[in-house]
Amino acid sequence: LQKKGQGLLQQNQVDETELKDKVSIIIRIRPTLTNELQEQFIRQVDDSTLKIMRPGNSLHMKFNSILPSASNQDDVYNLTQESILSFLNGTNNTIFAYGQTGAGKTYTILGDHSENPSQLNNEKILSYLQGQERGILPRSLYQILSELSKRDQEDYRLYISFFEVYNEKIYDLFNGRDQKDGLEIRESKNGDVQIPDLITVEIQNIDQALDILMVGLRNRATGSTMANSKSSRSHSIFQILLQQKIKIKNETYEDEIVIESILRIVDLAGSEKFKIPHDISIEEKQTRIDELTCINGSLSTLGHCISALIDKNRTHIPFRNSKLTRVLSDSLSGNGKITFIVCISPSMSSSSETFSTLQFANRAKRAVLDGRNLRADKIAQNKRMIDYEEYAELSKAYA
Ligand code: ADP
Ligand code: MG
Repeated sequence: LQKKGQGLLQQNQVDETELKDKVSIIIRIRPTLTNELQEQFIRQVDDSTLKIMRPGNSLHMKFNSILPSASNQDDVYNLTQESILSFLNGTNNTIFAYGQTGAGKTYTILGDHSENPSQLNNEKILSYLQGQERGILPRSLYQILSELSKRDQEDYRLYISFFEVYNEKIYDLFNGRDQKDGLEIRESKNGDVQIPDLITVEIQNIDQALDILMVGLRNRATGSTMANSKSSRSHSIFQILLQQKIKIKNETYEDEIVIESILRIVDLAGSEKFKIPHDISIEEKQTRIDELTCINGSLSTLGHCISALIDKNRTHIPFRNSKLTRVLSDSLSGNGKITFIVCISPSMSSSSETFSTLQFANRAKRAVLDGRNLRADKIAQNKRMIDYEEYAELSKAYA
């Protein structure tokens, strides 16, 4: 008997009734960078209210939380605690970083990465994954592995995978090989979305996890399909899959079941409606137009899916309209919880992008968990599960 992503563990700290919001929106305002003017476009009124000052009229918007520029990586991570605990409790969770390029998404997810990972040695990458400034992804790995280490090794298995969606194609970041056409998505008869060839590695401790994450980060920065400048035009998705055995027992019944949950940490492509430069070749222009079309398409589909999830009368969720929403469909529907960390720039010069980012956030925040049973809780898993030693052998072959 297998139960997926439903949050069945009883003994956990999280009270499901407290998690009534399906979507939680955290706004993070990044500090002013040295080359930016100090002009104010947004002002924080209180913990959950932002005042947006537009020419001629200002308006207020409410969100679950707002993190001012002075907040640090600890503050952001604290706000994701519900997600991490609920994942450990057996519920699917997705944490998105949303916002225009340069607003702080990668900083929030990974940490201070101001240097290009392709030019760093492992020691340096490791130091940013372990340092004070490290982001949500390394922090989650540390916390999850530390929580699990208190349990019996026999009772759980933990796997990671890392891929990106670029121009509607899926590339495995744990695979150093050229993947021209990207990976295939397959849907089984019962609606399970799978990426059969995605490498998924079982990990037992934080050293293994960081080791493999580093391979993925290097591939992201240097991969032949993915020049570094393009990384802000792809969505990167880090998946942590937990299988745990739990015992169910009452007067008449006793059984052991395996439940699965997935935590997905997603660094979305920049949401800006960027302009196509004039001084580039026709081929480059076409590349930009293609990228733009794919990003706009997938982000707006993500928005439409969230709106459809809010609307009690809608039973059709347009997951199939983009690769991103297809591979995330199990996290978004059913009991899955969604956290958006919406990154915004404080700069006046970004005001129109910031305003459209906040409008996206404002629409998304109304999605409330209503217990409807949409086509839920399908794990986008795959058959290619290997252990750490096998992966080490495999990546030697890629090198
Ligand atoms: P994005 O991934 O959204 O394009 P980045 O995370 O790369 O944006 O951030 C752009 C720049 O701003 C980087 O140099 C990053 O180090 C810096 N930055 C972003 N957020 C913060 C923050 N909260 N504190 C300090 N520096 C930040
Ligand atoms: Mg980025």
